[in-house]
Amino acid sequence: MSSSCVSHHHQAVRPRRGGRFPDPGRRPAASASFAPPAPRRRRAVPAAMSAEASPGVEPAEAAPGAAGQQAVLGEMAEEAAVWCAVNGLVVGDRADPRSGTVPGVGLVHAPISLLPARFPASFWKQACELASIFNELVDRVSLDGEFLQSALSRTKQVDEFTARLLEIHEKMTALNKKEDIRLGLHRSDYMLDSETNSLLQIELNTISSSFPGLGSLVSELHRTLLNQYGKVLGLDSKRIPRNWAATQFAEALGRAWTEYNNDSAVVLMVVQPEERNMYDQYWLVNHLKESYGVKSIRKTLAQVEAEGQVLADGTLVIDGRVVAVVYFRAGYAPTDYPSEAEWRARLLMEQSSAIKCPSISYHLVGTKKIQQELAKPNVLERFLDNKEDISKLRRSFAGLWSLDNEEIVKSAIEKPDLFVLKPQREGGGNNIYGHDLRDTLIKLQKEQESLAAYILMQRIFPKTSLTPLVRGGDWFEDLTISELGIYGAYLRNKDKVILNNHCGYLMRTKVSSSNEGGVAAGFAVLDSIYLTDEVITTHCLTYS
Ligand code: ADP
Ligand code: MG
Repeated sequence: MSSSCVSHHHQAVRPRRGGRFPDPGRRPAASASFAPPAPRRRRAVPAAMSAEASPGVEPAEAAPGAAGQQAVLGEMAEEAAVWCAVNGLVVGDRADPRSGTVPGVGLVHAPISLLPARFPASFWKQACELASIFNELVDRVSLDGEFLQSALSRTKQVDEFTARLLEIHEKMTALNKKEDIRLGLHRSDYMLDSETNSLLQIELNTISSSFPGLGSLVSELHRTLLNQYGKVLGLDSKRIPRNWAATQFAEALGRAWTEYNNDSAVVLMVVQPEERNMYDQYWLVNHLKESYGVKSIRKTLAQVEAEGQVLADGTLVIDGRVVAVVYFRAGYAPTDYPSEAEWRARLLMEQSSAIKCPSISYHLVGTKKIQQELAKPNVLERFLDNKEDISKLRRSFAGLWSLDNEEIVKSAIEKPDLFVLKPQREGGGNNIYGHDLRDTLIKLQKEQESLAAYILMQRIFPKTSLTPLVRGGDWFEDLTISELGIYGAYLRNKDKVILNNHCGYLMRTKVSSSNEGGVAAGFAVLDSIYLTDEVITTHCLTYS
């Protein structure tokens, strides 16, 4: 999701070397964007971990000593910050109050990892192959309105937000509204579970999948750094897969626009009133203009309500412009709908003939409850015919349960660290872990009806590594875990599938002491991957 707000506390280590960078003591309020609010204290790195190389670092022939390596990393950090600034790998700086509303003001380099994360090529291949299958699955499920309504019927009773989305869906069903042209820009997120040595899906985002713009730049940054420093670090830049997420998402939007077939129409990007991640979005706007000559307009839901209308023939007109494609980078969280005006805007757009990315149906398919329903035995078979595809999808599913399952609820109360409790929310910072999970389950058991607002998920334990991170011009090392997102684009017009691709990736690396780790919240950084020939993830350093 575009931005996330995480309230969990963690301790990050302070920058290793202050020499070339501003004094970290002055840093947080003055220069840090996306910086964690928690005080930063140096944490001792356990001996076993400190001996481990940074991700991607293999012994080079003339490997520098520990001190030498630190010096190289310090130099690289400065080069990385410069590269970000001159190549648009930037976000709004939290320290500047105008950075979320006025483009070109208060920019800071995006929080990044200095080196790509090691990732076995076999799992990479597996994740890429899944993209087109998930794309097709989303499309098929979206067409089964009864399935969506019945799977979410109990959630609806206890979750107001899901109820509002379903209400729009019901209205469209009542009108017998059909979406002939369907565009999906998805991101399926995975972690490598070190306990089972498997690639397991965290979630599938069907609305507002963030970072296609900046994510592709990080791969270029790492490639550039390894071209220069790879020899001394024993790394080969060719092992970083090319990442075309930004241009491929723009292509999908451009081709959807072409299908709409109105030369004067625009792409409407629906955005939050304040967005420090706007440059991620502007990268797509830029590619759309340069490669397809398509103009985009940005509007908040409130502006859509104030300036929009649907003509008798279904045409969506905003501020006097015909809209071919509505691309949502907002609208996934209850906070995006502070009043009825925003809901009216959502309904207005849904009723129109503009191509919605996503439609209300695609949006609902991406909910956590549907993820859990699809993981039940024999459900995938309702939607897909190809047995091999079905088994590939199933292999990537972690354990997912509804809270009706008393056995599982009991196990989760006994061993909360093996589970994650998830409400029907998007955007980070909503999941419940550990002691809180236990307490919440005990409480929920007493007020039975709220159980349907949540799902339980098997907790995935990725391997931790010591990673050099750069944020706000400072670099430091911390123990991290990573989450790989694979973008997928799907476009069809009636029976014709125009696009069904995997389009690049996003690696997010977060400090392992943070449960969630949103990039915007300051616990995670943008990363890329370094393909290795390992067939297994080697070892697991467990953390609490
Ligand atoms: P959101 O819609 O808020 O992004 P996610 O399901 O992606 O919800 O969860 C947010 C974050 O929580 C993930 O990015 C990941 O870091 C962590 N997380 C989610 N599910 C699991 C899990 N099963 N095991 C371990 N970590 C998880
Ligand atoms: Mg997520």
